[in-house]
Amino acid sequence: MSDQIKVSRRAALAGAAALPLAAAAGATRAAAPMMGTAMSPFHRIKVGGFDVTTLLAGTRAVEGPHNIFGLNVDADTFAAVSAEANLPTDVSQFFFTPTVVNTGSELVLFDTGLSGAGTTAALEAAGYTVDQIDVVVITHMHGDHIGGMTLDDGSLTYGNARYVTGRAEFDAWAAQDNDNFKAKIAPFAEQFSFLEDGGSVASGLTAMAAFGHTPGHMTYMVEDGGTQLVLGADFANHYVWSLAHPDWEVKFDMDKAAAAATRRRILDMMATDKTAFVGYHMPWPGIGYVEKAGDDFAYVPHSYQLML
Ligand SMILES: [Zn+2]
Repeated sequence: MSDQIKVSRRAALAGAAALPLAAAAGATRAAAPMMGTAMSPFHRIKVGGFDVTTLLAGTRAVEGPHNIFGLNVDADTFAAVSAEANLPTDVSQFFFTPTVVNTGSELVLFDTGLSGAGTTAALEAAGYTVDQIDVVVITHMHGDHIGGMTLDDGSLTYGNARYVTGRAEFDAWAAQDNDNFKAKIAPFAEQFSFLEDGGSVASGLTAMAAFGHTPGHMTYMVEDGGTQLVLGADFANHYVWSLAHPDWEVKFDMDKAAAAATRRRILDMMATDKTAFVGYHMPWPGIGYVEKAGDDFAYVPHSYQLML
């Protein structure tokens, strides 16, 4: 989405609970502490012989989702669609989900999250070290995708990696006066190689142009052993307000008409081919299928198909 979004980690611990009445009355058992909601930091599936692991680099509640999704529909429409899907309209939950693919010969990280630490914690929980990352692919250059390029001291988070991004994306941001690009990408420009539509990151990892969200936004096809998975990045950023309503305008889509056309094209492809996808901002663990629903689409969360 945009570089204005920053994860403020939810307090890890609830405040000290008041003593339960039973304790005051002399009972020996105390109630277990309330711990709030929780999610695993990684989720691994198989695509042919590849291990594909989604990483929960961050999640946060965001108020006023109609200020972001459905800019071209009125409040009543937004409320009705949300109610039908059992979603509140005052607040939504955002997820930030880089993906790491082990092809057997290279470990490839797609996007770096909002910060180095957020993504590396999930990466390590998933059983990898930062030193093992061979390739970092940047789908597009919004802050929640390039923020983890560097550590707090400005050095590269993934020091052993080569870097890959779309040519059009790099050129578009390089032509702007953008602080995030200058901090996170420009110092390392020499380490990047650049892809066009159809370009290959590695065997089984192919770039697919999906322009609109940003000028050179890329999605990637992961394919091995006859199984495919789309890494959709930000072509659609909400499972109802974008998938079920691909023409709803999204604040963070830089070219709203192009983004909507791209959304329809990719959704139609995935629904027709019954291809699963990872969405960087889909509900954790970020993996699902697309079904046609009249002229629009419906999101079906992955269950166990890619475990088999
Ligand atoms: Zn994003």
